[in-house]
Amino acid sequence: MTETQRRPLLAGNWKMYKTRAETMQFFRAFLPLIADVGEEREVAVFPPFVALETALRETADSRVAIGAQTMHYADSGAFTGEVSPVMLAEVGARAVILGHSERRQYFAENDGDLSQKVRAALDHGLLPVLCVGETASEREAGSTEAKLVRQLDEDLALVRAEELPTLVIAYEPIWAIGTGKTATPEMAQETIAFVRERLRERFRAAAELTRVLYGGSVKANNIDALMAQPDVDGVLVGGASLDPQEFARIVRYVA
Ligand code: PEP
Repeated sequence: MTETQRRPLLAGNWKMYKTRAETMQFFRAFLPLIADVGEEREVAVFPPFVALETALRETADSRVAIGAQTMHYADSGAFTGEVSPVMLAEVGARAVILGHSERRQYFAENDGDLSQKVRAALDHGLLPVLCVGETASEREAGSTEAKLVRQLDEDLALVRAEELPTLVIAYEPIWAIGTGKTATPEMAQETIAFVRERLRERFRAAAELTRVLYGGSVKANNIDALMAQPDVDGVLVGGASLDPQEFARIVRYVA
């Protein structure tokens, strides 16, 4: 994916959904629905590993970028079950989600490893989509900002300021993922503005070029209000990205 001046990014994380046949069906329905959407919006879909080639073939003549949902940081090695940045780049993936809360919670992905994964993605020309966010109890305890600062500082430890435009942050409050509870647009704006402020403290002017997405129960019926917020540069969508009509409506949000 190319460097942008915060071009809105509408990204779909399919998690462990869709076979290759379902991937093909999805894109045959979805692509005609977004055919007239202009270059000013960027669209990306993150299917399971085994559907990557199908997704890449189906989207070859479109502007949809295809990415993976996780990866190891090493180029190769004795890491059973893992996939490397070299392999993703070779297959044609252009982006990779890193630090999704489900990876952190169920697969023990930690900030030390994530700093190396972010570095490896950048080194291999993959756009890292780094997920950060707080749990419900952290928000209730007033520790949202401390959690975000820690995740941003540790996960971006090996990043240089000039790389910020080729990196995406997804702010995903964990209590809003897959729950149907969405942060209000104002809450998304306020927290994403805080994320950008933290980036500014460390990376100075490059923070203005970093896209920060919102994720957490984004649907066709709340996308317009979320995208109206000045610091919300796009969305990372789980459940609603599985349906071609609904994801197309999200891509076609009314500005
Ligand atoms: C996600 O998987 O990143 C996500 C935000 O999921 P959902 O949209 O289903 O809440």
